[in-house]
Amino acid sequence: MSAKTDDRLTRAWESFRKFMLSKDLRVTGQRRRILNAAFDLPDHFTAEDLLERARQLDESVSRATIYRSLPLLYESGIIREVDVGHESKFYAVNRRSENFKAQVICVDCDKIFEVDAPFMEWYGKTVSENLDLDVKTQRLQVHAECPEYREKFQCPKDS
Ligand SMILES: [Zn+2]
Repeated sequence: MSAKTDDRLTRAWESFRKFMLSKDLRVTGQRRRILNAAFDLPDHFTAEDLLERARQLDESVSRATIYRSLPLLYESGIIREVDVGHESKFYAVNRRSENFKAQVICVDCDKIFEVDAPFMEWYGKTVSENLDLDVKTQRLQVHAECPEYREKFQCPKDS
């Protein structure tokens, strides 16, 4: 883990701790390790990925603890949900002040690419303001084919 990640993790923990205290929730070592696990994972992890990684750090972490902690991490702004219309939700750590992201999803291997799309944020805001509405959420999803798919009609699959 780089010094930079370490620093972000410290700040994330500090804001998560404050969030929990403000909600009268217990600040536990398990929650700290779940946060660490989220920072260890590449973007677009599932609850099960988080469980697996958290258990490597602390084998007492249960599935129920993960499912109770995810909404807290989400509400406190530490992570965001990346809903690509699959059965299982994906999550990603908010690593810096993030631009609006559009998701491009491969039709074959389901790999998710995220690209900055700040104009989308502007567009959503503009069209809503014209209707005198406030934007709550918006998303842009593009379904596409990986380069490998175009060549071989099949993507390399994990495992
Ligand atoms: Zn693919």
